[in-house]
Amino acid sequence: KKITIAIDGHSSCGKSTMAKELARKVGYVYVDTGAMYRCVTLYALRHQLFTADGAVLEEQLREAMPQIDIDQRLIDGKTTTFLNGENVEREIRNLEVSNHVSPIAAIPFVRTALVAQQQKMGREGGIVMDGRDIGTTVFPNAELKIFVTASAEVRAQRRYDELQQKGMPADYADILKNVQERDYIDSHREVSPLRQADDALLLDNSHMTIDEQNKWLMEQFEK
Ligand code: C5P
Repeated sequence: KKITIAIDGHSSCGKSTMAKELARKVGYVYVDTGAMYRCVTLYALRHQLFTADGAVLEEQLREAMPQIDIDQRLIDGKTTTFLNGENVEREIRNLEVSNHVSPIAAIPFVRTALVAQQQKMGREGGIVMDGRDIGTTVFPNAELKIFVTASAEVRAQRRYDELQQKGMPADYADILKNVQERDYIDSHREVSPLRQADDALLLDNSHMTIDEQNKWLMEQFEK
């Protein structure tokens, strides 16, 4: 039987790396829900739906929601995100989007819309979904739930290395600040705050290599 796997955790903790690898190995669909919140944020930035001090123009965004179509497809074996048919995989990872995404993700109507879409994608099982609220809200009955964390410094370093590798601008201090701010907003918002589900397994991967964490996750899957 194909199960549902929920992988939640803090920003840049490496959850998508392990989620993707597991999905590839076992032939499941992988869904990156953070990319969906990033798409809404990119749309809002492009349409000037933020005030100068970073607040969201909620009424305008509410009206725009039906015009935001998000889709993830495998291209050359890589999960690639499309916003209204445009490949935005690279753009949604930039620091401007990262700095604006948490207030967008705190808006109830944004969450309602994206959670409904995520539940639809996973209704037949055989899915590995990563995010902040998958085990608590999207799939509370998921057969396997993991909650991943690592120190903020380790996570900032990983994001820094990743951006450098992709040839994108990166400043360690800015990234660390962004990681800490998102942790704070994500765990203090009113709707579906980031928290470990009671039945989730906790993984602190601060001192693990990618291979070690992939192996650990495969062992949990096989149990
Ligand atoms: O996973 P990633 O870092 O790309 O997620 C970007 C942001 O999207 C998070 O900081 C969080 O604010 C939001 N998010 C969320 N719920 C999810 C996935 C992401 O609120 N399921």
